[in-house]
Amino acid sequence: MRALRLPDWKSEPELVEVDEPTPGPGQVVIRVGAAGACHSDLHLMHDFEAGTVPWNPPFTLGHENAGWVHALGAGVTGLEVGQPVAVYGPWGCGTCARCRVGVDTYCENPAGAPVPGGGGGLGLDGGMAEYLLVPSARHVVPLPDGMDPVQAAPLTDAGLTPYHAVRRSWAKLPPGSTALVIGVGGLGHVGVQILKATTAARVIAVDTRDEALALARECGADLTLRSESDPVAEIRAATPRDRGVDVVLDFVGVDATLRLGAASARTLGDLTVVGIGGGTLPVSFFSVPYELSIQTTYWGSRPELSEVLDLGVRGLVRPKTSTFGLDEAVDVYHRLREGKVAGRAVIVP
Ligand code: NAD
Ligand code: ZN
Ligand code: ZN
Repeated sequence: MRALRLPDWKSEPELVEVDEPTPGPGQVVIRVGAAGACHSDLHLMHDFEAGTVPWNPPFTLGHENAGWVHALGAGVTGLEVGQPVAVYGPWGCGTCARCRVGVDTYCENPAGAPVPGGGGGLGLDGGMAEYLLVPSARHVVPLPDGMDPVQAAPLTDAGLTPYHAVRRSWAKLPPGSTALVIGVGGLGHVGVQILKATTAARVIAVDTRDEALALARECGADLTLRSESDPVAEIRAATPRDRGVDVVLDFVGVDATLRLGAASARTLGDLTVVGIGGGTLPVSFFSVPYELSIQTTYWGSRPELSEVLDLGVRGLVRPKTSTFGLDEAVDVYHRLREGKVAGRAVIVP
């Protein structure tokens, strides 16, 4: 079968022929129906090096996957060949306390996981191929009736990651609150939808591209601003008594956006860094608001994936997608790097 492989760090992916996988006991092979092209893959190609994460290339890209059950390994029950499914991407050990509650992202027994801190497309072969081997049936989540893989695939990361970030700040987003979304790409545009669907917050969105701000408005953003214009004053002015935003979700993570987020945030607020832009934020006593909680987040939990799929099938969260063949995937990543993708580009192998 054909697969888009990352051969090494600091290299371009290559479309090559590889063997079709066969499922061992407890495993499932998925016929890939859709694999989203995430900006993290660009970081894998251009920014990561040995030691950045506890795994290394080569592997097939694609960590945002959905399709149909193709083959079941010995002992797998509860799934049927042909059934449409999404793949929960972070693959932990399955037996530690965190994995047992579906928080494979923070598996406490990385030595027992198929790959420490990763999954398909992140250390192991992912979904930018005709077939995907999933090492445990517990990562295979049946799709709600009526949802197709192209809608489902982005929900497993571009949906799940912002959902997890928003959900952990729900208590800070009552009516009268404001959330700031920085970077309205694949994750950010779904983040705006999730904020509108699950909180009563006003949503301000910031990006460097007008098309991204137009998409933010389509997704329900109440106010959109260009980030180069240093919009801190305008952001604060849009909050009661200029107090600042309750929650910042930074889907970029460079120096400038971290600074913008901290300067826009309210005392007791949350600044959640999702983007892997490599920036840093100096923190000292007077440099950030009192009791601002700053955190990075990684992906989301399996129960949260079910919640995101439910928002999806009810039409409350609907990633804007464009689809491409596997032979166009290299070009899709070039376009993503150049800021020419609206919403999420999805590869249909
Ligand atoms: P994307 O390329 O689709 O979107 C990024 C958006 O940010 C674009 O709209 C771009 O115009 C905008 N942007 C770039 N620089 C900006 C700036 N200075 N100010 C404002 N906006 C700016 O990327 P994506 O797939 O949505 O991923 C976003 C980030 O999240 C990436 O760094 C990716 O690696 C990371 N990510 C993290 C996790 C996690 O678990 N923490 C999961 C998935 C992706
Ligand atoms: Zn991703
Ligand atoms: Zn574990």
